[in-house]
Amino acid sequence: MSNSHTTYDYFDRPLRDLRISVTDKCNFRCTYCMPAEIFGPDYPFLKRNELLSYEEIERVTSIFVQSLGVKKIRITGGEPLMRKDLSTLIDRISQINGVEDIAMTTNGYFLPKYAKELKAAGLKRVSISLDSLNDEVFGKINGRGVSVQSVIDGIDAAAEAGIKVKINMVVKRGMNDQEIIPMAKFFREKGHILRFIEFMDVGNTNQWNLKDVYPKKQIIEDIHEVMPLESIDPNYTGEVASRYRYIGSDIEIGVISSVSDAFCSTCNRARLSASGSLYTCLFASIGHDLREELRSEKTDEELAEHIQAIWRGRKDQYSVERGDATTTRKKIEMSHIGG
Ligand code: SAM
Ligand code: SF4
Ligand code: SF4
Repeated sequence: MSNSHTTYDYFDRPLRDLRISVTDKCNFRCTYCMPAEIFGPDYPFLKRNELLSYEEIERVTSIFVQSLGVKKIRITGGEPLMRKDLSTLIDRISQINGVEDIAMTTNGYFLPKYAKELKAAGLKRVSISLDSLNDEVFGKINGRGVSVQSVIDGIDAAAEAGIKVKINMVVKRGMNDQEIIPMAKFFREKGHILRFIEFMDVGNTNQWNLKDVYPKKQIIEDIHEVMPLESIDPNYTGEVASRYRYIGSDIEIGVISSVSDAFCSTCNRARLSASGSLYTCLFASIGHDLREELRSEKTDEELAEHIQAIWRGRKDQYSVERGDATTTRKKIEMSHIGG
């Protein structure tokens, strides 16, 4: 759809999605994201004045939406619900003219407490991460021994509050590939869309290796053998998950194949870190500092021009160029930009 404000990058990809990380902190220590050995008690998490305030997030979001063509907002982290009064931010963002969709990615732990107020504030959709239904496996993955039930309680709380729920499962060979079928069965029964995510080489701390990636093709074959699937068309251009439906039902699953089947050619996402740096790719080495710009005397028009110039120069297509080995280049950590 054309839009007079649409901003295109070097490869003609429009800017449509903005993912906002509101904190770099988390109550979990997932081995593939914030390994406990590295994110320990001495880890230098951001200080309060280094985080964008809700006013600053609201202002920059309005600029992205009203001057640059963004339509969808996703709140992420770290664990976004670790940030105080998150519903206030959701409320402010949902009131910005032009925001068509507002979603959040969360580990689900705090949803029993916050689901109702998040819904009232305007949250429409939530993606909840859960990698296993087995307490021992899940406890090891989340690095804190958190039980499966506490996440299921979060899933139920969100659904009961009327928020649309999807489940995200990162699949890593040898870690939880045996959990693919139990998870598929469980969420087919429950009626929530389950999305499998290939283990990615985000950041520099998660010991990524190509041999640990359990590829999309294999995931689909495993499920198809037990519960036959048919593929379905994407909902819209740029949708990252390939969609499948269980034959004879309207329950679907998705696979996000960032490693085995890259989708950079339609990537329309910008990411704002909790400290206010703008990243034009999940695997970027450097961000563009917007916090100082926001704290300067610059007008909204000047800020919009600045961001527009960044997006116009965007040439990122890391997953296409990755090859079979992670590069040695320095990359931003997942917990800073939130996936
Ligand atoms: N804490 C929230 C959560 O876990 O949903 C939001 C932030 S988390 C960084 C966002 C998503 O990224 C989660 O679904 C998580 O499983 C996924 N993720 C983190 N590290 C990953 C990796 N190395 N490969 C693939 N997905 C990853
Ligand atoms: Fe925390 Fe989410 Fe990363 Fe797990 S994936 S450590 S829950 S930020
Ligand atoms: Fe987008 Fe970068 Fe991922 Fe490619 S590698 S899909 S450009 S975030």
